[in-house]
Amino acid sequence: MDKRTFLKTSLTGMAGLFSYPLISRAGYDEPALPATGAFREQEKYELTRLPYAYDALEPHIDSKTMEIHHSRHHAGYVNNLNQALEGSGEGRSLVSIMENISDFPVAVRNNGGGHFNHDLFWKIMSPRGGGEPKGDLLSAIERDFGSFGSFREKFSSAASTRFGSGWAWLVARNGNLMVTSTPNQDNPLMDVVPSGEKGTPILGIDVWEHAYYLKYQNRRGDYISAFWNVIDWGEVSERLKKA
Ligand code: MN
Repeated sequence: MDKRTFLKTSLTGMAGLFSYPLISRAGYDEPALPATGAFREQEKYELTRLPYAYDALEPHIDSKTMEIHHSRHHAGYVNNLNQALEGSGEGRSLVSIMENISDFPVAVRNNGGGHFNHDLFWKIMSPRGGGEPKGDLLSAIERDFGSFGSFREKFSSAASTRFGSGWAWLVARNGNLMVTSTPNQDNPLMDVVPSGEKGTPILGIDVWEHAYYLKYQNRRGDYISAFWNVIDWGEVSERLKKA
């Protein structure tokens, strides 16, 4: 192969390597990875493959934010988690690690939480998202919050009042739903969370500045409002069924 052909082949190969998260998913029939709660027991955790292109959530979440958030921030959590678990996490699912997080070093709490939370976050958003939930999820929301509107208010308020970096959650516990928030990369599965706030997260919003600063700067409220346009309620319903 001459130099030019070699270069072309290499670049094509590199383009393939770097474009994999950009592949759009045709439908919902092909889950990229097991859903939350069904993480495979594996030696090394892997960066979640995005089920849509980086620009798919425009204009609500911009392409550059998605790219940096996924390929640098989330990838960093995965790499650091694998390093932090070296020799200590074999044979344990990520959910099991979350539920017993007080047994692990703080690096596992921060980076394992980071991996779990972002994996959920990517999957509960969709370019075909937005609108309102239906069926059992809507009934549960109306039962526990009064109406979809008051749930939306409560969740948005939890997200906007979380001081500094963290997450707001819709949590399923013993068949009931509640809204909570956690600091840093903690989540409601962790045994360090107050017992009244523990449960299975079925919806979450990342309110770290890295999730919105490029587009929204200090306007966290505008980012939270935009998030409602990309929530995949079908996915959230599935997570409620499995919780
Ligand atoms: Mn994040």
